Amino acid sequence: MPKILIVGAGPAGIAAALELNRRNIPFDIVERKSIGGSARNANLIRNLPGYPESISGAEFSHRAAEQFKNLGIDVVYETVNSIENYENRFKIIRNGIEIFYDAIIVAAGTSPIRAGFDGESELFEKKKLFYEITKLPKVENATVIGGGDVAFDYAITLFEMGIIPKILCRSQPRPIDFLMKSTNSNRIEIIADTRIEKVRMNENERLDIVLDNGSIAETDVIVVAVGRQANTKLLGNFDKFNIFPDGRTNIAGIFLAGDILHPSMRQVSLAIGDGCRVSIFATEYLANFIKR
Ligand SMILES: Cc1cc2nc3c(=O)[nH]c(=O)nc-3n(C[C@H](O)[C@H](O)[C@H](O)COP(=O)(O)OP(=O)(O)OC[C@H]3O[C@@H](n4cnc5c(N)ncnc54)[C@H](O)[C@@H]3O)c2cc1C
Repeated sequence: MPKILIVGAGPAGIAAALELNRRNIPFDIVERKSIGGSARNANLIRNLPGYPESISGAEFSHRAAEQFKNLGIDVVYETVNSIENYENRFKIIRNGIEIFYDAIIVAAGTSPIRAGFDGESELFEKKKLFYEITKLPKVENATVIGGGDVAFDYAITLFEMGIIPKILCRSQPRPIDFLMKSTNSNRIEIIADTRIEKVRMNENERLDIVLDNGSIAETDVIVVAVGRQANTKLLGNFDKFNIFPDGRTNIAGIFLAGDILHPSMRQVSLAIGDGCRVSIFATEYLANFIKR
């Protein structure tokens, strides 16, 4: 029986898995971190139908994991590094072993963009700088770099975790209204129109962020939220790869869903819709595949 691979267990991959399960189509779902994807970081998802009180990203992810458990869907926790065409099928290497699939739904989402200052990688390795907040150590305060929705969402979550946040952005911040209101009502400090000159560790093992106006912002950790880019690296083996807006591609049998398809329009509902739609495309593709 032909088999589908879903790469990623964020909202798009979750929706794809639920739809394939409903249709009784064999599939594997592979995830490199944890169920929920970047939605795990969301403070409150207010725009999902059916949740009158809103739902936190953590709770959304927990419920998806429960739903998988109830339906007997097992997630394989590994990284898919590349996908190759192999005699009308697709070959991936997981844990050093070659595995073949007949169609692939790539729901690999996005990765954070680096802030770009000297020493950023070293601070990340020393666990002084983070791109997500789910694994933050116990600290007193944190400085979030970025001026969009994700930066403000992180700052509000940090505040609720008992950490004193500060937001640093190089221009005027531009979050949606309710995030700005919540930031203001929690009296979270925003330093706007400021660039980072350098970051250095001080004698107290804290970070000094030296700003272009000459002032220094001291902080325990930095959280970078300056944007995200699509995780398309694993598709690097395909020459002249074209993606169509509905998630189909010029490679028959490869489908994209979620943020990877529209990285500048990141929404849980869109990702869920995409996951469902490309599962139907993949099912139709497999039906024709069997006839060949
Ligand atoms: C702080 C924050 C707040 C947000 N708030 C909201 C909100 O209120 N409302 C809203 O609609 N949206 C919100 N979003 C956006 C929303 O989380 C995303 O749009 C959504 O998660 C996208 O789903 P996805 O499945 O496409 O990608 P992701 O959620 O990014 O999932 C992709 C998954 O693929 C995995 N993966 C990637 N590469 C590989 C690989 N090579 N092998 C195996 N696994 C791989 C990743 O580990 C990840 O789990 C928020 C995002 C953040 C960060």
